[in-house]
Amino acid sequence: MLTKIIDQANIDLFGEWLKETEKVVIVSHTSPDGDAMGSSLGLYHFLISQKKTVNVIVPNAFPEFLKWMPGAKDITLYNHDKEKADKLVADADMICCLDFNGLKRIDDLGLVVKEAKARKVMVDHHPFPDDFCSIVMSHPEISSTSELVFRLICRLGYFDEMTKEGAECIYTGMMTDTGSFTYNSNSQEIYYIISQLISKGIDKDDINRNVYNTYSECRLRLMGYVLHSKMKVYPESHSAMIWLTQEELKNFNYVKGDAEGFVNIPLSIKEVKFSAFFREDTNMIKVSLRSVGEFPCNKFASEYFNGGGHLNASGGEFYGTMQEAIDTFEKGLKKYEPLLTANN
Ligand code: 5GP
Ligand code: MN
Repeated sequence: MLTKIIDQANIDLFGEWLKETEKVVIVSHTSPDGDAMGSSLGLYHFLISQKKTVNVIVPNAFPEFLKWMPGAKDITLYNHDKEKADKLVADADMICCLDFNGLKRIDDLGLVVKEAKARKVMVDHHPFPDDFCSIVMSHPEISSTSELVFRLICRLGYFDEMTKEGAECIYTGMMTDTGSFTYNSNSQEIYYIISQLISKGIDKDDINRNVYNTYSECRLRLMGYVLHSKMKVYPESHSAMIWLTQEELKNFNYVKGDAEGFVNIPLSIKEVKFSAFFREDTNMIKVSLRSVGEFPCNKFASEYFNGGGHLNASGGEFYGTMQEAIDTFEKGLKKYEPLLTANN
């Protein structure tokens, strides 16, 4: 049995609304990751089983390695199909906002969602949710939104109607948001849920291969280059950094997703507790931060890189040169050195 994490009042109200709802739009965050996709498609498959008209809309493209997910080909990308998406959002009875806590995280789509007449529901695990939904199922203590979607479906009493496809999506999100169950993954209930998903016929080993072992030769060569030449370790602050410019990415025929997970690599060094990855994009530098243990990289992201996220996984954006981004990072390391070296 699972603990009742989501408030009963939220479950009851969502259940009531669902009865009165025909058209649902599911929205998730910019640069969708495995959990954005997994939670959205997990809910999508469930709502289809309930004979609803359902559309998933995300602001922009998702990575290649998630294209196999059941239902992925039916997702509308806002930056490609704005007109279609605007109409879907305007006509919806209910909008479910999954895996993000503020309209800022869905870029231009935010304004359309804000102005839509539909009832809005948030299911998310990022701290500090903004106030734009009438039902807010916000649970930062849960490691993935996909897990919350599983819990929601069960609490509504529909576990039996969960399909294998839906279960595959939920598993994918749970797996990717915990680094294949290597962080934020000590809750016993995660493994109970996995056993329930396996009972639906999912092949978890296959899902792992689909997500992690379908990379290109270019990605591996880029990784080799990073490890050899573009990783700087700061032993005095138990930290490390990787940085890549647009020119370097071009040299390795970079396509979106090729640098996925690079930010985690330095954390495999024994002393490193905090890691950063700076990737130059067209108009800014995308920042990814990861930590192990108690170091709050979301605080670091909001203080220096106009971002946020979770305690151990956060990100942001930097507007300036790569050298300025690195200088900013090093300034932050100096400030946080006492915390980074405490109890280590
Ligand atoms: P990633 O490093 O995989 O891009 O992002 C890790 C986590 O950091 C995301 O799940 C999200 O919570 C957070 N994050 C990433 N980029 C941003 C950003 O630009 N702004 C905010 N507020 N959070 C971000
Ligand atoms: Mn997530």
